[in-house]
Amino acid sequence: MKTIDDYNFTGKRAIMRVDFNVPLDENFNITDTTRIDAAIPSIKKILASGGSVILMSHLGRPKGPSKKLSLIHVLPYLSVKLGLQVKFADDCIGQSAVDLSAALKPGEVLLLENLRFYEEEEGKPNLPDTVTEEEKKAAKAKVKESQKEFTKKLASLADCYVNDAFGTAHRAHASTALIAKYFPNDKMFGYLMRDEVASIKKVLHDTQRPFTAVLGGAKVSSKIEIINNLLHKVDNLIIGGGMMFTFIKAQGGKIGGSLVEPDFIELAKNILSGAKELGVKIILPVDAIAADAFADNASKQLVKADEIPDGWMGLDIGPESIKLFSDVLNNSKTILWNGPMGVFEMCSFQTGTKELALAVAEATGKGAFSLIGGGDSVAAINKFKLADKVSYVSTGGGAMLESIEGKELPGVKAILED
Ligand code: AMP
Repeated sequence: MKTIDDYNFTGKRAIMRVDFNVPLDENFNITDTTRIDAAIPSIKKILASGGSVILMSHLGRPKGPSKKLSLIHVLPYLSVKLGLQVKFADDCIGQSAVDLSAALKPGEVLLLENLRFYEEEEGKPNLPDTVTEEEKKAAKAKVKESQKEFTKKLASLADCYVNDAFGTAHRAHASTALIAKYFPNDKMFGYLMRDEVASIKKVLHDTQRPFTAVLGGAKVSSKIEIINNLLHKVDNLIIGGGMMFTFIKAQGGKIGGSLVEPDFIELAKNILSGAKELGVKIILPVDAIAADAFADNASKQLVKADEIPDGWMGLDIGPESIKLFSDVLNNSKTILWNGPMGVFEMCSFQTGTKELALAVAEATGKGAFSLIGGGDSVAAINKFKLADKVSYVSTGGGAMLESIEGKELPGVKAILED
């Protein structure tokens, strides 16, 4: 894996794709700086090695140039974090970008304006809903054609290419994948990408056994590809959250008014029998906290997971399930966790998710490698302040999910391939 540790940056200008897609309030203050903070070590490393850095990112989903979604809003924070005045080019491929990057000296940083002000970045046209399919097709072909020129212009600003934007690694965009071909011998991962890719590899490919995956969240339908891929890799598959009820129903259990996807009951049956054939243990909750309404202040009762009374819905796993899951995790050497065990956003139904997070932390303390990835489980581990007690918390929602589905990420492939 070629990283910024393996390259001589002396006198070189590095164009680096970062993920500065940060949330802004109405006064354009950054409300969560995590993504910018995550890129700082890679930037500092290049500067300390005698290079200069040209940063490029997208922000939001603009349809053409927009003051609201200008990356100029991140300039003050970025300058403070790096302890230097970062320069800014108000058009990512315009004359200002060309002039400022040509004049860049070692130790200096230039930030380019939002890449998505150009539709060539994503390679898809911004069209009103009123256009016909024919027009759409023609517009798409046109953007694809001009995307080549756009990518070439970006590449011409620098001597080498660094990708440190894991959050967009599952997209084959100009700056995340296509640009790499202009730097056949001068392309590499930044530290964030390196760590994300290494943690996925550790879990899915260099696996220490037993390997336990914990899946939760609302729906089976959104996790089918994940389950299919994991069934060929794990020893144990723990299923909690709303999706557990489709499996319990498939086994003939009573689920009351709990979340269920009737169209996926057959599939759940197939998954259960397929797991048996593969020698994978699927572990489902044995008890649940049922509520008489989807509300924090609903009445609740502890019931068997397959005996939920009519008019009640399971919103969390119960204490026996927590014990069962914790014992499995305690004996695991590799853990992958995606999706909460219950409606953890409500205090009344957060215990299952919190206890599961604690069990993952405890197993990690005993030497297991644990990866937490994809959306809500990351929010949960942060809510319970346990992020530093697990091995790795992924920063990329969609990119992480696609990795667990077994897909090769275009942003990763573009760096790895010759
Ligand atoms: P997902 O995006 O599919 O990972 O789903 C995450 C969401 O699932 C969270 O907002 C949880 O509140 C929700 N969730 C977890 N358990 C349940 C449950 N038993 N019933 C309804 N929703 C749930």
